[in-house]
Formats: sequence, C-alpha cells, structure tokens
Amino acid sequence: MQKQPPQKLVVLGATGTIGLNTLDVASRHPDRFLIHALSAQSRMSELAALCARHRPRYAVAGSAQAASQLKQLLADAAVNCEVLAGEEGLAQVVSDADTDQVVAGIVGAAGLLPVLAAVEAGKRVLLANKEPLVMAGAIVMPALKASKAELIPLDSEHNAIFQCLPGGYRCGATPRGITRIMLTASGGPFRDRPVETLSSVTPEEAIRHPNWEMGPKISVDSASMMNKGLEMIEAAWLFDLSPEQIRVVLHPQSIVHSMVEYVDGSVLAQMGQPDMRTPIAQALGWPERITSGVAPLDLETLGQLEFREVDAERYPCIRLAGEALKAGGVAPTVLNAANEIAVEAFLGKRIAYTRIPELIDKCLHAHQASEYMHSPSNELTAVLAVDNWARVFTESLICE
Ligand code: NAD
Ligand code: MG
Repeated sequence: MQKQPPQKLVVLGATGTIGLNTLDVASRHPDRFLIHALSAQSRMSELAALCARHRPRYAVAGSAQAASQLKQLLADAAVNCEVLAGEEGLAQVVSDADTDQVVAGIVGAAGLLPVLAAVEAGKRVLLANKEPLVMAGAIVMPALKASKAELIPLDSEHNAIFQCLPGGYRCGATPRGITRIMLTASGGPFRDRPVETLSSVTPEEAIRHPNWEMGPKISVDSASMMNKGLEMIEAAWLFDLSPEQIRVVLHPQSIVHSMVEYVDGSVLAQMGQPDMRTPIAQALGWPERITSGVAPLDLETLGQLEFREVDAERYPCIRLAGEALKAGGVAPTVLNAANEIAVEAFLGKRIAYTRIPELIDKCLHAHQASEYMHSPSNELTAVLAVDNWARVFTESLICE
C-alpha cells in the first residue's frame, strides 16, 4: 500500500486541556501528523514553548500585543514560525490550503467564527468546543451540509455516540434504527454535597472535578451540570435528534461515556478510562484506530458501575437547558451567553455559585419579552446580536 503523506493539523486553543491532549496524541504518531498551526489567546510563553517543541508553520496569538510578545519569544529561542493575530489569523490558518484537520479546542463562543470558517473551507473539524453549536447550530450544520467538510465530535459523550452509530455515519444525518441516546454525567464534585450548602461553594472547589481534568469554565459547567445541558443541545444538532430522544443518566464512575438505544432493544455503549486522549485519538485516526497513551480499562478493579436518575433540585441548569432546547430558535444562544457571563463572574468571586442558574433563568425570561425574541436563528448577525444582548443583560443583573 502506498504511504499517505502526514495530515497537517491546526490546533486551536493549543495551551488548553484539549489542545495539550491533542498534541500528546499527535506527537505519538509523527509519521501521520504534522503540526501546521497552533493558537492561544494569552500566556504567550506557553505557546512559544509549544512552538519550540512542535515546530508549526504558523502560531496565532489572541491580540496584536500578544503577537509581538510571541515574536520576541520565538526569536530569542531561534524558532522559525510565522506569527498571526486575532480572528483574522485564526480564519487564515483554518482555511489554509495545506490544512487537513482542525482541532477546535477554544473555550466558549469565541470559537464560533473559526469553526465556521473551517467548515466553510471544507476541512475535517474535530469539535471539542461545544458552545458554537449551542449558540449557532442552525448556522453551523447547514454550512456543514453545503461543504465537503466533516465534523467529528471530540466531546467524550458525543464521540462515544459517534462510535456507537452504524458504520459510515456522518454527523448531521439522522441515524437509522435508533430510538434515543443516553448521555452519561458524572454529577461533578457536588453530587453528594447537601443542596443547602451549595450557595457557599468556592471556585476552587467547583473546578476540582472527581474524574476529569479540564479547563476552569467547563469544570464549573460540570459542577452545575450546565455542561450536560449544553451537551443535550450539542447532541440534538450533531445527530439530528428531537429533545425527546435525548436522555441524561447520572453515572459517577465516568467509564461508560454514553449510549445509543436501537429499535430492537439493543443498547450500545462506549467505555474507556476518563481520559480525553481516547476520543481525540479516535477522531484523529478515524476511520482507523491509533494508539492514545491511555491505560487499558481494568473492569475487575473497578468492580461496579452505577447509573442513577438526575436530581433536578441539585442541578437546575439541566431544566433550563432542556427548556431552551425545546423552545429552539435563539433560546440556546441566550442560555449559552448568560451562562458564560455567570460562570466568569463566579470564577472571579463576584457572585455565589447558586446565582448561576438564577441569572440564566432571568435572562431567558427577559429574552422572551425582548425585541430579540423573534430573531432568525440561521443568520449570523442576528445570532451575534442576541448573544451580545444576553451578555450585557446578564452583566447588568450582576451589577445590580
Ligand atoms: P481551557 O480553558 O483549558 O483552554 C482554552 C483554550 O482556548 C486556551 O488555549 C486559550 O488560550 C484559548 N482561548 C480562550 N479564550 C479564547 C478566545 N477568546 N479566543 C481564542 N482562543 C481562546 O479549555 P478546555 O478545557 O481545553 O476546553 C476547550 C473546549 O473544549 C471547551 O469548549 C470545552 O467545553 C470543550 N471540552 C473540553 C473537554 C476537556 O476535557 N477539557 C472535554 C469536552 C469538551
Ligand atoms: Mg463532555
């Protein structure tokens, strides 16, 4: 068989958890993958160190100021790499003619424009960054269908479902023969803590996840289970499902990463260690299997796997996300934006943890009464305007 040339990878959010895990897996297969571009918003010394190690052709910094700092660091280390900046730099590297695969590891809505640009340029997009689909699935998914791009989910639950769907399945299509999917949720660090004490939890406690190591925003989302709420909306877009076809099951061990139920009563599950390098390797190598560095699963040592119903009182964010999913239109855009602002305020110690769902609820209600209620959800400018409105509104509630 003729040897394939290495795939050229663009890693967006290279200094984050997803970015670093991607570089770990890719560097185990130097014959298969070449790092073409790396990006980071801030912390330029970390980005410069990654450039020295992986020798990308391009590096994208968050701002012009960060770019000049990065240029200096790279010159001092004698690393030859073209430095770009901001949204334009991201758009350039994802749509570069040489780029084969784009790993979307930026956190939050900031990932929307680069993800959309990569899809429009027809690339294979490995999507960890769920917020763009939540806020603008009605834009991203039609763009996917209109291009030759492929979307492969990296989010562990969605990657699990992708693995359990019939061979040849491509995201965006309605899967054949399935009744519903079951997303598993660990319940986060507060699953056994008395509900009445939740108002006093600190950001440090919230980001200490029992099973996974992740960035601060998604860690808080995992504690509140807004992460699972966002994932319900993400799943509805990726797999073309109705809200009724999406269930959430509490599974404290994070070994079963999600399940697909078929019309004949079969339930297929994907299992593995809670380590993002498994879904990353599955997506990077797809349709082949490649090694990830993850230890094998030892079921005898694990002993038991548990599954429970989700406690609605403990996790009000699940209900809010479910309502936004059912309402459709720009309601998920509002939910996502309000959540991003509330989580940032909680991490900055400006609000109590329990105010996160309160603020999102208020913002969703205010939106129903606002001029933005009937904004088209399939127009980028309308979605960005709603996103901005919800951010300003939530911030105003925090400042009250
Ligand atoms: P992180 O905070 O560890 O890293 C975020 C990265 O994005 C950093 O490189 C940062 O420089 C960059 N970034 C931040 N703000 C930016 C901006 N405004 N513009 C451009 N770049 C910016 O986050 P993470 O945990 O790696 O998560 C990344 C995304 O992947 C999130 O959307 C998250 O929900 C999703 N995800 C993460 C995990 C995980 O295990 N960490 C699992 C599933 C999904
Ligand atoms: Mg997930």
